[in-house]
Amino acid sequence: MQEGSTLSRHSKISGRRAFTAPRNTLRDRSHRAEGGRKPISGRVAAVVVAAGALASGVGAAGPLGGGDAPIIPLAASEDLIAALAATSGPTAPGVKTVHAVQPAFEAAKLVRSEGLIVRQCIDQAIKHASNGYTVRQAELKKQQEAQAAEQARVAAEQARVAAEQAAQQEAERVAAEQAAQAEQAAQEAAQQAAPQRETRVAAQQPASRASVVKPAEGTFTSGYGARWGTTHYGVDIANAIGTPILSVMDGVVVESGPASGFGLWVRVQHNDGTITIYGHVNETLVSAGQHVQAGQQIATMGNRGQSTGPHLHFEVWINGSQKIDPVGWLGARGISL
Ligand SMILES: [Zn+2]
Repeated sequence: MQEGSTLSRHSKISGRRAFTAPRNTLRDRSHRAEGGRKPISGRVAAVVVAAGALASGVGAAGPLGGGDAPIIPLAASEDLIAALAATSGPTAPGVKTVHAVQPAFEAAKLVRSEGLIVRQCIDQAIKHASNGYTVRQAELKKQQEAQAAEQARVAAEQARVAAEQAAQQEAERVAAEQAAQAEQAAQEAAQQAAPQRETRVAAQQPASRASVVKPAEGTFTSGYGARWGTTHYGVDIANAIGTPILSVMDGVVVESGPASGFGLWVRVQHNDGTITIYGHVNETLVSAGQHVQAGQQIATMGNRGQSTGPHLHFEVWINGSQKIDPVGWLGARGISL
């Protein structure tokens, strides 16, 4: 405890109870006593060590100087340097006082410092949060704008589609209207044309409907009169089987069917009593009692009965059964064979 007595002496010099230095500090001081002033870096290190010691020991140390000399460091102060310098020798001049360490004061300073740091951290956190909020708000706004733009685009697309559909419907409606108008015009034209056609048909009918017609088209092959030792009571007109055979005048069918020598025949009685005969027909198209008009087909040309080839045998009977020359009778009525 020789060095401890040195410290005790220092305490007496200062006149006040200053501190109880740790043993390593005392050793440092003894080293410095041998080598002169400690370099500035060494002093700063001592201050740092002292500040750390205060932070850890201020609560547990208890009253100064009590018991086994608790570590009570000095705060960063020139007084520490002065105090250290004063221990280099008992007669060091100018060092009369050393500030007493007031733990509460040092602690309050640290608390204030910590408070400032905390406040700074809080400020930074608030600022960071505020920045984040601003950024987030900007992002949200951007998203909302993008959504609004997308909605606007969709709405525009829907409007465009609706307009197209409306245009198409309008076009279809116009087309349907035009079609209806065209149909109406066609109907009107048909209605106007119909009476004209009927008038024309009515006008043509008297001209086209002759009172006497040729019984069939073909080649005049045989006339009325004596032939092959007998009398041929009619005329022959040759043509292909199936050639139409027409009633020469209006009249009523009095017989239609088989006949001796003629195969099949048709007999028509006209309004003046004259009867015309159509023989060797292939088929008859009328029946007895049926009214026929001049030019109406009543049978087809054939080769039935006593016939040497497809032809029509045509006779004209007057006064019931008097057979006359058809050529003269037809010629008197404007028809030549
Ligand atoms: Zn004949």
